[in-house]
Amino acid sequence: MMRWAERQAAGEVIATARAMRSCGLVVGTSGNVSARVGDAVLITPSGMDYEALTPDDLCALDGGGAARGRRKPSSEAPMHLAIYAARREVEAIVHTHSTAATALACLGRGIPAFHYMVAAAGGADIRCAPYATFGSAALAAHALAALDGRRACLLANHGMIALGATLGKALALAREVENLAEQYLRTLAVGQPNLLDDAEMARVIAKFASYGQHKGG
Ligand code: 13P
Ligand code: ZN
Repeated sequence: MMRWAERQAAGEVIATARAMRSCGLVVGTSGNVSARVGDAVLITPSGMDYEALTPDDLCALDGGGAARGRRKPSSEAPMHLAIYAARREVEAIVHTHSTAATALACLGRGIPAFHYMVAAAGGADIRCAPYATFGSAALAAHALAALDGRRACLLANHGMIALGATLGKALALAREVENLAEQYLRTLAVGQPNLLDDAEMARVIAKFASYGQHKGG
């Protein structure tokens, strides 16, 4: 049985899952979306068409993974739950098999500081977590380690994951990571990029705090 606050959040989770598809980050039913709602996590059901989802198709999980709802939760529930448990600031998670990020991940390559926007994920690079079977505790552990100090990482031979303080921010970061992966692949097709050093990336990260319409700094 879904609680009132979960029902409110369900519409936003579904809209985010549909947006992943409409902006080209997802083909078929790959990927999944979740949001923290109080002490529970609301997550997309496993293997269902995002266009057909209604709020009652979403699953509510407690910290131990016990599920409420009529559907089987996403197979990646262990990875989402591990991230929410370890990262109190994270309120939303988007996981996709988007093309360019996945191509790099299939090479076991992360994204180095070839462009200053890599700092959007929180650090001087975007790591690639080692491969483990989808839905496994090992994948959850690898992802958590690769996300240390970051809001996104690639998952070897699989895809990527992006975290945010809101569903909108997690989706926007996933789009940015895909964009960076595409730019990096094009760069690699011609030669070796000139990488920015750690001091420059630290300057960029500091500058992001006051970029755009942020106040202060
Ligand atoms: P689910 O449909 O079970 O969420 O699985 C999709 C996926 O991307 C597994 O990694
Ligand atoms: Zn996946």
